[in-house]
Amino acid sequence: MRILLVEDDEMIGESVVAGLESEDYAVDWVKDGDSALIAMNTTPFSLVILDLGLPGKDGIQVIRELRARRNPTPILVTTARDTVDDRIRGLDSGADDYLIKPYDLDELSARIRALLRRSAGRADPIIERGELRISPATREVTYRGQPVILSSKEYALLAALAERQGVVWSRSQLEEKLYNWDNTVGSNAIEVHIHHLRKKLSDSAIKTVRGVGYLLET
Ligand code: CA
Repeated sequence: MRILLVEDDEMIGESVVAGLESEDYAVDWVKDGDSALIAMNTTPFSLVILDLGLPGKDGIQVIRELRARRNPTPILVTTARDTVDDRIRGLDSGADDYLIKPYDLDELSARIRALLRRSAGRADPIIERGELRISPATREVTYRGQPVILSSKEYALLAALAERQGVVWSRSQLEEKLYNWDNTVGSNAIEVHIHHLRKKLSDSAIKTVRGVGYLLET
């Protein structure tokens, strides 16, 4: 899953990026409202973590512009300004949830999971697809009842394929979910990870749809 962090505080930004990357998210970080809007125009993020107090356009303006453009990406607002008014304005402008600074990284992760679940239309915290079970909270995977040990990118790829049932994902869509702007992506990176996933699950677990992309077999 690809996440955009909009945060002008260097220390908070660095710790959030490190924390989320350790949980296998691909994270891009911008430090002002205008850069956030440009980023959202060019890249399909699964979720935005948005500080309200930003240089230039503030977080509320960013939310309003995104929603005016009919951009439905889940927005988690973070704010140091612990006033009820800010939170209400954020939510009423189209944000989906909020956290008050300083916040705990584990709580941030749990809220991200809840928002991603909701935006995928799931109520169940476990993703079940055929004989595959994924627990996003622990990143544990079982296939045919057996635990499967995956690398960070293999897990991220499998979670992306499983997020929506019956969707065929193109290679470029999967690349956008797995890699941030700073990553140099080899042209066959996705194929290599798919190959490894098939070895660890089964050949039939992931189907290649010729000329289109990949589909998780359910
Ligand atoms: Ca700030």
